[in-house]
Amino acid sequence: MISIKPHHFVDIITAFGDGCTRFEPHPYGHAVHRVAAEILADRDAMIRIEFGADDICGPCRHNIDGLCDDTIDTSFRPQAPKSKRQYNLLLDERWAERLGLRPGDELTARRFCLLLRDRAGDISDIYRENPAERTAQRHTKLQNGLAWFLA
Ligand code: SF4
Repeated sequence: MISIKPHHFVDIITAFGDGCTRFEPHPYGHAVHRVAAEILADRDAMIRIEFGADDICGPCRHNIDGLCDDTIDTSFRPQAPKSKRQYNLLLDERWAERLGLRPGDELTARRFCLLLRDRAGDISDIYRENPAERTAQRHTKLQNGLAWFLA
């Protein structure tokens, strides 16, 4: 079972769509490389929806007793909260509402991707603090990642 924030899962599929299928360990020490490899190794791997610290956050240096103490770059999105924890929660709540998911829900990675394919729609509202051109690129990569993952 992989515990994961919705936007973290979306980020991994988006990276697949950008041609990245092998993640290097990150200086933060988080586990995105291991979680991405698990999802790649088994498209029916079980996922449990988490809004707090997930399996990626587990070994991260910014995970302080289950709370992320990192900040985000707001230079190109001044409306976004500086706190990564607050911004991540906004993204996770928006994605969960869009996909009809709640914390604690369990589904396969494939099922999550099918939900994304069928329900993601226009994602500009989910990433509303970001410049439109960045979100357009994100949308294209996400669609490419979904098509590749589900092929
Ligand atoms: S959300 Fe925070 S704690 Fe989790 S991986 Fe990212 S920086 Fe680390």
